[in-house]
Amino acid sequence: MAPAAPVRTDVLVLGAGLAGLYAALAAARRGAGVLLATKGSLQASNSYMAQGGVAAAVAADDSPADHAADTIAAGRGLCDPAAVGLLVAEGPGRIADLEDLGVRFDRDAAGGYRLGREGGHGRRRILHADGAATGAAVAGALIARVASEPRIRVLEHTAALALAGDGGACTGAWLLGHDELRPARARMTLLATGGAGALFQRTTNPPGAVGDGIAIAYRAGAAVRDMEFVQFHPTALAGGGRAFLISEAVRGEGAHLVDAGGRRFMLGVHPDAELAPRDVVTRTIEALLARGGEAYLDLRHLDRGHVLGRFANLAAGCRRAGLDLAADLIPVAPAAHYLMGGIATDLDGATSIAGLYAVGECAATGVHGANRLASNSLLECFVFSHRAVAHGMAAGVAAAEPGRSPLRPLARAPLADLRRRMWEGAGPVRSEEGLTALLAWLGERADSNPALVAGLIAGAALRRTESRGGHLRSDLPDTDPDQARSTTCPPLHSTV
Ligand SMILES: Cc1cc2nc3c(=O)[nH]c(=O)nc-3n(C[C@H](O)[C@H](O)[C@H](O)COP(=O)(O)OP(=O)(O)OC[C@H]3O[C@@H](n4cnc5c(N)ncnc54)[C@H](O)[C@@H]3O)c2cc1C
Repeated sequence: MAPAAPVRTDVLVLGAGLAGLYAALAAARRGAGVLLATKGSLQASNSYMAQGGVAAAVAADDSPADHAADTIAAGRGLCDPAAVGLLVAEGPGRIADLEDLGVRFDRDAAGGYRLGREGGHGRRRILHADGAATGAAVAGALIARVASEPRIRVLEHTAALALAGDGGACTGAWLLGHDELRPARARMTLLATGGAGALFQRTTNPPGAVGDGIAIAYRAGAAVRDMEFVQFHPTALAGGGRAFLISEAVRGEGAHLVDAGGRRFMLGVHPDAELAPRDVVTRTIEALLARGGEAYLDLRHLDRGHVLGRFANLAAGCRRAGLDLAADLIPVAPAAHYLMGGIATDLDGATSIAGLYAVGECAATGVHGANRLASNSLLECFVFSHRAVAHGMAAGVAAAEPGRSPLRPLARAPLADLRRRMWEGAGPVRSEEGLTALLAWLGERADSNPALVAGLIAGAALRRTESRGGHLRSDLPDTDPDQARSTTCPPLHSTV
């Protein structure tokens, strides 16, 4: 395919989840021309599906220090305290900015925020919008703002294939969309392409979440780190591959986790019982399922009107599965949900390649460590997109010629097979034997984005010879204090 003429812009944003939308608006409000290209529609993102909300220390009895302490405790020794400090300190300001942009967080009759509580948080700290449909509400408001912003040009159904470079700096990307391969040249390129949960057979993520941005950046020579840390959410509806998430917010409102005999199995496991951090709850449920048991969410003791009002979208999802959220036991099991690792960045979202920034779930800023605290990911999108745009626009590289076009577009991966093998080999419970077999199979596959990112996850999981946070090894169940450090994946080769 002969490339079309280059398109020029000040800031190129790749991906239209909340990280990309917010970055595009931040750049436009600073006067930049923005090209926002996204693989699917503006609504096709993990962000749009987010349920529980956004964590931020906005309550009078809360503080950034308390939020930081909970984040660092959940991160199992691997959080970067400086990154966490920025996240929690700048969070309330970003919430105020979102409200200026038209986001309406749920409030009570007196006008105060209705704050939810989720696992690992020592208090109610989660802002939500439209009950448990926070992602659609927030993204919907930002999409409306993007549509009314003349400085932003949107290209839907347009995927980034590769980065364009010039002498070690990133100067844009190659875009494929609408039957056209086209180079985009920019002073600042920002990857906001999301995570890789859809590499696993059982996942809460939409099918497109296969780690494209991480693969693209890694091929270009960017540092990638902490890929072994995948968060498996404990309470997705049991059965099937694409798993409907039952937000942790229901446990924040008092839902219990019970076994087939009605016993609350989290009691005695952790002082916060059902509100223990996610890695603890997931491990407990995995162990229960491995013994042939079953796990259920039980909301039957809660006020039916409150449950159905506060969690209307969850009730609708359960109804589609033939279940009544307020009246039935809801069978749950872990599912791949969030990638803590990703493209290594500094505190301004800058990657190891000049001119290239990464924000949101594709980035590893250090805020999540080995186990993300619930509802910190949306906050991370806002805080670090804002920082990256401020930094990148000040330090932009010259928009040079795009160079050679990528040799071939995205290779096809045998996705169904890959997802099954990833679940078996690198899922919630891993072992040297399973990871080695997975890597051998992956090594024979085409150089597609999914296979490359799967290999990064499995390789990092094999190299981490301990269990920590989202990374559980059945053959090495203990945490090794000597491995309390972040690890970078071995470099490939630089193409920019
Ligand atoms: C069901 C569910 C519920 C969740 N609930 C919460 C919650 O309540 N609170 C919370 O903090 N977190 C929650 N999370 C996690 C959170 O939604 C994500 O971590 C966050 O939205 C990531 O935002 P993002 O902008 O980085 O990526 P995404 O929202 O995933 O967006 C990625 C974008 O990049 C695009 N893209 C991908 N590849 C390419 C490519 N090659 N070229 C161009 N574009 C590309 C995609 O199409 C998409 O537009 C939830 C996740 C799920 C799945």
